[in-house]
Amino acid sequence: MANLYYLDTMGCQMNERDSETLAGILQQLGYDPADNVQNADVIVFNTCTVRAKPHHKLFSKLGELRRLKQRRPQMIIAVCGCLAQVAADEICRRAPFVDIIVGPRNYAGFGAAVAQRQQSDNSGKPIVITDDEETIPEGLPACRERRISAFVNVTYGCNNFCAYCVVPYARGREQSRQVTDVVAEVQSLIAAGYKEVTLLGQNVNSYGHDLTAGIDFADLLAEVDQIPNLARIRFTTSHPQDLTLKLLDAMRDLPLACEHLHLPIQSGDDEILARMGRGYTYAHYRSLVDAARERIPDVAVTTDVMVGFPGETEEQFGNTLRAFEEIRFDQAFMFKYNDRPGTRAAGMPDKVPEKVKQRRLEELVARQNEIARDINRQQVGRTFEVLVEGPDPKSPGKLRGRTRTNKLMIFPGEDSLIGQLVHVQAEQAYLWGFLGRLSSES
Ligand code: SAH
Ligand code: SF4
Repeated sequence: MANLYYLDTMGCQMNERDSETLAGILQQLGYDPADNVQNADVIVFNTCTVRAKPHHKLFSKLGELRRLKQRRPQMIIAVCGCLAQVAADEICRRAPFVDIIVGPRNYAGFGAAVAQRQQSDNSGKPIVITDDEETIPEGLPACRERRISAFVNVTYGCNNFCAYCVVPYARGREQSRQVTDVVAEVQSLIAAGYKEVTLLGQNVNSYGHDLTAGIDFADLLAEVDQIPNLARIRFTTSHPQDLTLKLLDAMRDLPLACEHLHLPIQSGDDEILARMGRGYTYAHYRSLVDAARERIPDVAVTTDVMVGFPGETEEQFGNTLRAFEEIRFDQAFMFKYNDRPGTRAAGMPDKVPEKVKQRRLEELVARQNEIARDINRQQVGRTFEVLVEGPDPKSPGKLRGRTRTNKLMIFPGEDSLIGQLVHVQAEQAYLWGFLGRLSSES
C-alpha cells in the first residue's frame, strides 16, 4: 500500500498555493493523499501567523497529535508556512515531537527533509529550514486543488512593513517572478484545462520594481491577457499606496481582466493610517475607488479592514464606519487588531480593550452586511457571465461559479457546463451572492 499524507492548510490564498507545491513534492516522493490524520504517514501543517487565532489552533492540533506520534513514532509531522518561519523555536520547545519545520521560502528543501526523516528513526532533533533565501526557485512540482481556476504567484514576500503586520518577517523581502516564468505557468495551466488565473502577491502593484526589464504590473497583465484560450484574469492584493491609474486603465481595456478590485483600506482615519505606516490618506483611497468606478462600469470593490489598532478612539473608529458608508464595498474582510510579536504596533501604547474591539467589529460587520446585501439585491434581474467551477456541494443538481465581479452564483444546470462561461440571471440575492437560472443568452 502506498504511503499517505495529510495536509492541513490555514490562512490566505498564498498558503493555498504553497500547499499545492507541498502536495506536489509529496506526490513526487510517492505519497498519496489520506482522508484523515489517523492513517497518514506524513502530516503537514501549512500555517498562518497573521493573526493570533491560527497560532493557538496549531498548538492545539499538535497537542492532539502527541499521543498518535507516541503510538506511531515512524509518522512524520511537518510544520510549514509563516508560523514555522517566525516561531520555529517555540514549536521545538512546545512540540518537540515535530520532525520537520520549514519556512515559506524554503520549500525546495522540503522533499529532502521528508526523505531524510523517512530513513531515520525520527528520534533526533527536528530538521529546521528557515533560511532567508534571496530567490525562490522556479519549477517546483504542484498538485492543484481546483480544476478550473488556479492561483499563480507573481511576487513573493513584502517590503512594506506595515506597523501591525508580520508578513514581511515570515515571507521575507519582495521578489518578482520573471514575466516568462509567469506566462509559462499560465500556459501550462491552460494546457491542463484551466480557464481562470488569479495572480497573487502581497502587493501586486509593486510587481517588477526588482526586475531589470522595466516592466510593471499593468504590463504583466497585458502579457497574460494575450495568452490564447484563457478566459479570465483576477489578481490580489492591490496596495492603495502603489495602485496606478495605468493599472485601472488596463483593467478597463484588457478583455480578460475581471471587474473586481480588492483594495485593503485597513482604516478610514488618517492618523491611524499614518501610524499603521500605510502611506496613503482616506482622501487618496477614496480618489482611487472613484477613479476605478469611473473607468470600469460595475466594478466590484472589496477590502480588508481592522478595528482597535492601538490608540484607536471612538471618533477614529467612527471615521472607518463613515468610510464604509461612503464607499459601499461589495465585500469586506473585517478583523480585530491583534498584537503580532516583533511588529512596531505590538510595542505601541494605549491598546484597545478586547471588549471594545469586539463591539466595534460587530458594529462594522452589521453595517457592512446590510450594505453588501443591498448592493446584491439591486442586481437581481441582471444577467451575469459566470465561469462554472463545479457542482454546488450543498445543493444537488445545482452548479456554482463566479461572476466577473467575484460574486458566487448558484443555479440549476448540467455537469457538462463545468469549465464553461455561461450567462446566468440573478433571481435571489444573499450576502454571499445569488441564486439564479441559466439565461437564454448562454
Ligand atoms: N498584503 C495584504 C494583506 C495581507 S494580510 C495588504 O497589504 O493588504 C491580510 C489581512 O490581515 C490584512 O489586510 C489585514 O487587514 C489583516 N491583518 C494583518 N495583520 C493583522 C493584525 N496584526 N491584526 C489583525 N489583522 C491583521
Ligand atoms: Fe502586511 Fe502591509 Fe505587506 Fe500587506 S503590504 S503584507 S499588510 S506589511
